[in-house]
Parts: sequence; C-alpha cells; structure tokens
Amino acid sequence: MIYVDNAATTPLKPEVLEKMTPYLTERFGNPSSIYKSGRDAKVAVNTARAAVAESLGAEEHEIYFTGSGSEADNWAVKGVAHAGKGKHIITSAVEHHAVLHAAGFLERNGYEVTYLPVDGDGLVDPDDLRTAIRGDTALVSVMTANNEIGTVQPIAALAAIARERRVPFHTDAVQAFGQIPVDVGALGVDLLSVSAHKLGGPKGVGALYIRKGTKISPLIHGGAQENGKRASTENVAGIVGFAHASELAMKGMNKNTAILLALRDDYIKKVRESVPYCRLNGHPTKRLPGNANFSFEFIEGESLLLMLDMKGIEASSGSACTSGSLDPSHVLLAIGLPHDIAHGSLRVSLSADNTQEDVDTIVAELRPIVQRLRDMSPLYEGIKK
Ligand SMILES: *Cc1c(COP(=O)(O)O)cnc(C)c1O
Repeated sequence: MIYVDNAATTPLKPEVLEKMTPYLTERFGNPSSIYKSGRDAKVAVNTARAAVAESLGAEEHEIYFTGSGSEADNWAVKGVAHAGKGKHIITSAVEHHAVLHAAGFLERNGYEVTYLPVDGDGLVDPDDLRTAIRGDTALVSVMTANNEIGTVQPIAALAAIARERRVPFHTDAVQAFGQIPVDVGALGVDLLSVSAHKLGGPKGVGALYIRKGTKISPLIHGGAQENGKRASTENVAGIVGFAHASELAMKGMNKNTAILLALRDDYIKKVRESVPYCRLNGHPTKRLPGNANFSFEFIEGESLLLMLDMKGIEASSGSACTSGSLDPSHVLLAIGLPHDIAHGSLRVSLSADNTQEDVDTIVAELRPIVQRLRDMSPLYEGIKK
C-alpha cells in the first residue's frame, strides 16, 4: 500500500502512542480531581500545553485544547462573533468547511459574511481585505495553508491590515502546522487553529490559540476546564500525544521539508512529462512542501481514485469531507477551474516516510489509468480528432 493522503490524516507515530499509553491505562485520573492521580493528570495536560505553546511561539495560557481542528475553527468563528458587537464577518472562498460552514451558520443567524476571492493560484489579495473591512466587522478568518491545493497565504500581511482596524484575526493553521513554521508572533494573528492528527498525533484533539485579551464566548458550556472557556473532561492521552507529535514535527521539520520538496518536485516533473493535458493547481512556489494537486482534463477524479485504490495507492480528489458529494471542490472552482476540469483532480499529499519508489510507482500507474479513462471519454474523443 502507498499512502499519499497525509492532508486527510497521518498515521499515529509509534513514539506518540508510547507517550499516550500510560494515560489510557494506569494514569487514568481526572485532571479536575484534587487527589494525586488527578493532580498528575493535570500536570500532564499543562506540560503538554507548554509544549504546544512553544511550538507555536505562544504563551502557555493562550493555548486551549479542543476536540478537533473543526471545533477550534467553529469556536473561533462563532465565539468571537458572539463576543463582539459587529454583525459582519470576513473569510475567504477557499476555507475548510469547518470555517466556511460556521460562517454560513452565522449568515443564517443575522450576520453578513464577505467571502474574499482568490487568484488563479489560490492567493487572497491583501488589498481586497483592506476594502472589505467595515466599522462593524467582528472577525477576519483566512487559512494559513489550503488543505486541497497547498497554497500558503500571506497571513502576516493580512493580519496586519486587520490589526490596524482593530478587528480580531483568526487563521486555520491545521494544514500548515508541522509542515511549515507557524509562529503566532511572526504572523501577528489573534486566534489560530491546529489539529493533532495532521502531524502524527491522534484523531479527536486540537487546540485554539487565543491571544491574551481577545474577546471570545465559549462554544462548549459546562465545567470550568480550560480556564473556564471550554468545558469537558480533558482528553488527557490525546493532549499528551498531541504535544509529543508537535515536538517531533518541530524537531524534524528541516530534514522532512528537504525530503518532501525533493519527492514532490520529482512527482510534479514526472507527471508533467508523462501525462498530457494536466495542470498543477495551487501556487507554484508558495505551497506546502508535501502537496501536489493536479487536474487531468477529460477524466473524472472519483474513477481515477478508485483505479489507483485497486493498485494499492491511497490519494484524494480534494477534501475528504467532500468526497461522496458530486459537487466539484469549492477551492478548485474558486481558483477559476471550469466544472469539468475541477472534477478530474488528484491531490497527492506526501509524508517524509514516502520514498522515491512510491513516487515512481504512482507515476507509472497514473499514466495508463488516465489513458484508459480518457479512452472512455466522449470529450477526449473530440480532442484526438
Ligand atoms: C483537517 C482540517 C481541518 C479539520 O480538522 P479535524 O481535526 O479533522 O476536525 C480544518 N482545517 C483544515 C485546513 C484541515 O486540513
């Protein structure tokens, strides 16, 4: 099996599981309990908080653990909207559904939402943000790196514009964290979402960075956990695993980036050489090191995925959340692809555990599969004539 869908999820690192296991077994205390096993669990959670904070350049008390990246996104969008007076939200057309649908929910509940467009490479223009901000804008949310096409946004420039106008700025850094440096100070953001399972940690745990002084209402009401801002008995093992996975990702980043860039650029080059009528989606250079998203004209992405799956290759046609739906990806439409081309897309998201042999196998399988699918396509029939 060749797994190249690391933007959807990553395997749990064995070292991470090892750190988690005691908290799933003998160290089962509830961090809210005052006796020893409870206190030990609380220490574990706060040690993990310090580690996640360090990997983001944040203060320990600015990190709030959540049940996922999606929860962190929902909390940022709805929580900041509810805590402010303004009824206007700005986001981009290429956000993950966790942000987009949270904004849509607000839109159905009395808020106005501006969706910033992107250019053909998937970039938001800071001037568009400048124009969109109004006196009643409660929040700007633009993702750090796109999960489908890998484009990395100019977050520092965008956040600076929001700051000038005193509007809180949130970024969904779920896809970027662990892949490229993410520093809340350098970016100048007020809120930032991350998730453990995209960087070798467990599923079902994430975090929201909330800059000190940022006004936000809770999303989950109940007990006083997470400094009274997010109720729920802490996912102690998950949180411990998340922290270790982020430490490993920070330590390995330079080495892993070099591996990813070499593999990805070789894959891109070989696909271009061997498959006609293809286009690389996303920015040519401002993109995540492991992401390569191609559209192949005259074919249907879902059929391509199924045929690759039969060869033991696991990739994606875009976002795992949209697979099963027949609508083309909102991201590919936003960068201007026509419907038929947006349908024929393949996202390969590599990890540093992939090999040159993996890349060569994928390219070798891809070429005849694309050809077979095109031979069945009436559109391609017209091109050949
Ligand atoms: C995966 C992902 C999410 C959702 O994170 P979960 O932990 O799976 O809920 C949000 N945003 C982006 C950009 C993602 O890639």
